[in-house]
Amino acid sequence: MVEEINPFEVVKTQIDIVAKEIGLDPNVVEYLKRIERALIVTIPILMDDGSLQIFEGYRVHHSTVRGPGKGGVRFSPHVYLDEVKALATWMTWKTSLLNLPLGGAKGGVCVDPRKLSKKELERLTRRYTAEIINLIGPDIDIPAPDVNTNAQIMAWMMDVYSMQKGRTVPGVVTGKPIEIGGSVGRESATGMGLYFVLEALCEKLGLKLENQSIIVQGFGNVGGNIAELLYNRGCKVLAVSDISTGIYCQNGVDVEKLLEWVKQGKLLKDYEEKNYKNITNEELLTLECDILVPAAIENQITEKNANAIKSKIVLEGANGPTTPEADAILFKKGIHVVPDILANSGGVCVSYFEYIQDIHSYFWKLDRINEELKRILLEAFEETYKISQERNISLRTAAYIIAVTRIAKAIELRGIFP
Ligand code: NAD
Repeated sequence: MVEEINPFEVVKTQIDIVAKEIGLDPNVVEYLKRIERALIVTIPILMDDGSLQIFEGYRVHHSTVRGPGKGGVRFSPHVYLDEVKALATWMTWKTSLLNLPLGGAKGGVCVDPRKLSKKELERLTRRYTAEIINLIGPDIDIPAPDVNTNAQIMAWMMDVYSMQKGRTVPGVVTGKPIEIGGSVGRESATGMGLYFVLEALCEKLGLKLENQSIIVQGFGNVGGNIAELLYNRGCKVLAVSDISTGIYCQNGVDVEKLLEWVKQGKLLKDYEEKNYKNITNEELLTLECDILVPAAIENQITEKNANAIKSKIVLEGANGPTTPEADAILFKKGIHVVPDILANSGGVCVSYFEYIQDIHSYFWKLDRINEELKRILLEAFEETYKISQERNISLRTAAYIIAVTRIAKAIELRGIFP
């Protein structure tokens, strides 16, 4: 599915939708459909067996008009330039929607990290960082974890950058281990943000969160965290999935046990339990449930399966899981789609807190992190919800109106150089 739909074409369609809604200057529309810069790098890696393997990597800045670039680094065999361009653009909207003084960026390496040893993964990360070093920095662009990258990978990136500068620069990446300048609450922040926004939406819709049944696609950082939070809230989690399979149980799965399993680096297809049924990722999306959380990759809900979605709410943990055609179908069906740029923005929000803490060399307690996170996300949610109600438009279009308007204003105020 990933290759079929180009996510950067999706981005352009989304820009056209919001431009039409608010009558955006066509020159600005054209500008927003471009990225500021992209770097393609070759990463030669000496493998443990002495052979040489060459990988391709990318770092893209979509917009730094409101501040330094911000965005994750993805290691996946499906990564390609247009995907990274799309992900960078979505970061621009996300930081703007939350009104953070940051822009949008993203990076990736086309590699299947499961096929690398830990040493090979470290060499790949270090060489990738060295290759993109001129494009990153605390006041240029600050990477963070994304699919198949984690705190350890951020530690290696921070080390390479610091070695080059001749001093420790923790603020060059976020999502680091706490021992070297990471923030408490960062690892669970995206899931926590999804939870806060979902709670707020349920309240608007008069739904009791604990009575809702849940399905989560993608059981990694984002999907695992939101599944755990909802499970502990008392929700029935009917199904979860990773890249290998989906697991379904009519009476609900034991999220804690499944998390224990995947945290050992194991795949769900190897998990065995009486009453659990293996299903495909495609089947999982169209099962009966109250809240569907796509938390894996892009283009999962398309015009092909949107009509078959049965949930009341789609809470986008992943970036770009729903195509514009599917969006229109879901809106017609009365399904509330909480868009990625709002729903999963808890990650970038706490990344911003980590960045501030690193710059000030002063670290916050978890209570403060979660309190500020909730405040910022609920402000964005309330604003988005209000616009969607006033104009009778989707939450996505409403969120885009806020985000794009702020970017357009920044462009207007700064003017075009020279
Ligand atoms: P992760 O690597 O921790 O987990 C990804 C999960 O998705 C894994 O369970 C993996 O097996 C599964 N998966 C991968 N490819 C799949 C496929 N083709 N079909 C089904 N499942 C598949 O990654 P993550 O950090 O949890 O990121 C997941 C999504 O959330 C991505 O879209 C990412 O851009 C987005 N996101 C992440 C963060 C963050 O803080 N990590 C923040 C905002 C958005």
